[in-house]
Amino acid sequence: MTSLPAIQRFESSTQVRIYRIPCEVFPNFIGYVYVVLGAGEPTLIDTGSGYGDSTKHVLDGIQAVHDDFNEPITREDIKRIIITHGHIDHFGGLVHLPKNSQAKIGIHTLDRRVITNYEERVVVTNRLLRFFIQQAGVPSELQAQLIQYFNFSKKHTQSFPVDFPLSDGQEMDGMRFIHTPGHCPGMVCIAIGNILLSADHILEKTSPHQSPETITRHMGLHHYLESLDKVSRMGGFDVALGGHEGPIHNVYQRIGEIRRGHMRKLDRVRGIIQNAPDPLTTFEIAKAMFRDAKDFHLLLAIEEAAAHVEYLYEHGELAVSNIDEVEIEDNPPLRYRLV
Ligand SMILES: [Zn+2]
Ligand SMILES: [Zn+2]
Repeated sequence: MTSLPAIQRFESSTQVRIYRIPCEVFPNFIGYVYVVLGAGEPTLIDTGSGYGDSTKHVLDGIQAVHDDFNEPITREDIKRIIITHGHIDHFGGLVHLPKNSQAKIGIHTLDRRVITNYEERVVVTNRLLRFFIQQAGVPSELQAQLIQYFNFSKKHTQSFPVDFPLSDGQEMDGMRFIHTPGHCPGMVCIAIGNILLSADHILEKTSPHQSPETITRHMGLHHYLESLDKVSRMGGFDVALGGHEGPIHNVYQRIGEIRRGHMRKLDRVRGIIQNAPDPLTTFEIAKAMFRDAKDFHLLLAIEEAAAHVEYLYEHGELAVSNIDEVEIEDNPPLRYRLV
């Protein structure tokens, strides 16, 4: 097992105490949940994955906030759970936390169904993913395998009722929700004074994963870049605390780095297509961009490449070259050339 980082305490310019609790959401992959005290009722932000020891880490972490930081709080005192976005490493723990009927659960409207209609959504998304994988030109012998990777870990949770929806600009006891679609449709960042809980919208080291809108609406690079700009324009954040990795002390510089990384990837896609003798599928572009990607990472690589291909296509830089096939076949791979 990976050893867990220490719990960290932060205090906002508005005197809200924020405790950063690590949990192992998947083997060797650490996520962070946050206990927020002094902003209305005691609030838990995200719940871990529910996988392995993740829930135990969350509960032990809340206990440690009591024992090591002298906060008068136990797990029963948590009256509100906010889910930053509908990814399983952030909400999967919901069904595993001890029943605390007083805790009300909130998530942005666009991710609400992920929690309330979980089983249905897995089936529907599977179907859209199959369509996408064919359209991307993934060789048929690989297709089923990639779907299986997508379904990995999907069995650890189930539908759960949600009590209140979150919306953009909403204020709640000193927390302000900022809707930042892109990495996930209903992604919210939470502003608490000079601290931004940036969830998976802005991470310290990794450029948050992108997937095309073809699979899920309100995702895609166009939305993501707009959401980066939205946070940039807000100003006033001294630190951002993400759903993974370390605290970000240079929030605006980090936003610039992530943005430039996507501009480089767009350039890379243009170059790969330009230098190829024939029009390329998304799968071929992904293989050229991420040569070593295997297994689950290959699925992520195809999605990431597709988000960039889709962006260029939407912005009029690419054209589909095999329209004759598209006209008569059900779902042929799309082959792209530069306009
Ligand atoms: Zn995450
Ligand atoms: Zn995420």
